[in-house]
Amino acid sequence: MTVTPFESPQAWTALSACKNADPDELFVSGAAQNRAKAVCMGCPVRTECLSDALDNRVEFGVWGGMTERERRALLRRRPDVTSWRELLETARAEHLAGTQAV
Ligand code: SF4
Repeated sequence: MTVTPFESPQAWTALSACKNADPDELFVSGAAQNRAKAVCMGCPVRTECLSDALDNRVEFGVWGGMTERERRALLRRRPDVTSWRELLETARAEHLAGTQAV
């Protein structure tokens, strides 16, 4: 099955690195959050996951490599962002264009 991460709102979940993990492993606190974040670092849909959590103001758990506390801080720093999905998708496209131009 070929899935383009942003082809439908939740299509990215099929590609997640944690799709077979125990959900409780992502809803942890303290040092265990660093282990959860480590799983995210190699996830192919980290951008989609993070933007979904930010756009939907998900309050708990590690999403896209960020804890709830980190996401709250980011949302406070950038109240001007109306669509994290659009912002992160654009940033990724620009990054990819830049790396391919070299
Ligand atoms: S970024 Fe992390 S929480 Fe999100 S889908 Fe990937 S592994 Fe799961």
